[in-house]
Amino acid sequence: MHDLLQEHSLMKTTKSPRVGFVSLGCPKALVDSERILTQLRAQGYEVVPEYHEANLVVVNTCGFIESAINESLDAIGEALAENGKVIVTGCLGARKELILEKHPNVLSITGPQAYEDVMRAVHQHLPPSHDPFTSLVPPQGIKLTPRHYAYLKISEGCNHACTFCIIPSMRGKLKSRSLDDVMREADKLKQASVKELLIISQDTSAYGLDLGKVQFTALCQRMKELGIWVRLHYVYPYKHVDEVIPLMAEGALLPYLDIPFQHASSRILKLMKRPASSENNLERIRAWRAACPDLTIRSTFIVGFPGETEAEFEELLTFLKAAELDRVGCFQYSPVEGAKANLLPDPISDEIKAERYQRFMETQAKISAKRLQSKIGRTMQVLVDEIRDEDIVARSSADAPEIDGLVFIPKTEGIKTGTFVEVKITDADEYDLYAEFSGSH
Ligand code: SF4
Repeated sequence: MHDLLQEHSLMKTTKSPRVGFVSLGCPKALVDSERILTQLRAQGYEVVPEYHEANLVVVNTCGFIESAINESLDAIGEALAENGKVIVTGCLGARKELILEKHPNVLSITGPQAYEDVMRAVHQHLPPSHDPFTSLVPPQGIKLTPRHYAYLKISEGCNHACTFCIIPSMRGKLKSRSLDDVMREADKLKQASVKELLIISQDTSAYGLDLGKVQFTALCQRMKELGIWVRLHYVYPYKHVDEVIPLMAEGALLPYLDIPFQHASSRILKLMKRPASSENNLERIRAWRAACPDLTIRSTFIVGFPGETEAEFEELLTFLKAAELDRVGCFQYSPVEGAKANLLPDPISDEIKAERYQRFMETQAKISAKRLQSKIGRTMQVLVDEIRDEDIVARSSADAPEIDGLVFIPKTEGIKTGTFVEVKITDADEYDLYAEFSGSH
């Protein structure tokens, strides 16, 4: 019986689509397996250790010598017999006819390092259950991440009790993966040509709390060893976040913080029961920027939370103007079934929510545009995401994939997807930058 890979470190969630995974072959094949598993986890799939628990099985094969070929064919046969829905990838996948001759009923066959094709096949036969309230990966990111960036999930669950959120009741308490486990996966991803890691969890700054002590700074220090772009998502403004700003200033981590502030009024933040809500965020932001002038801050806010007065909303606008955040998302409060905030008095009417949303977005649009304009004339390193017929699409350290802006460069021969190039910014609009090529490395 072939062993299905297991995940001991993460919680099982009954609602998630479930995948079984058999990994055969050499260390290179294992790198592919790691890559696929990382993305499965990041996209909300659960990796299960038993055939009968899985909705489908991925078999990563080896085709190096006769015995490896036979073992791979056996593994496919076993997965078909035990589960019935099988996706084949890996070295033996390059010899499609051989597999089809013996196992004509497999769902899809791809060769080695065809990670995108495997994810595409998984999506086709077992769609991800994207839930906007619980998913950490942006809906657009669910499509497929190109091979040069990857989401790395460092923990599951959450210890907080934000009143608008149901994640702790669905996913349970914080459960962090060990630092060695996270680094092992990060290293494998680097070996698989990943140039940018997007660190995700419900509360990245609380990482390790359940293992005895917060290890957020230690995690960031270890990430420095990788020498690739590392971007932090979902960081709460705890005091210890200050410790990683110097790492950003020295270039060990991308100078980018995704901090969901959600509001600026202390009364509303208390009603929301937000973590680290008593910190003086404006002062913190100023200090961070003084220590790391290139820091990009992304945040999200909720307008129209139950009981939000006009004065409290104005306080939020004042905060926005003073904080001058780079990228901001805004949601009109909407009750999620089972959330405690539903019981709060004084709900805000849909008209007022929409009107506040409008004012919020107009205020922030001017700020974001001004921040982008200030980049004109600067030279910066960007990561190439896509070569199109007419131009090259890239991102700077300030742009997380799928949620932030882009950098457009005129088509230049010899530039490849997934490489870093140096560009000079020539123009900007409300969301994106325009640049010309000024070198490569
Ligand atoms: S920090 Fe709050 S919003 Fe985020 S997952 Fe935990 S409870 Fe939900």
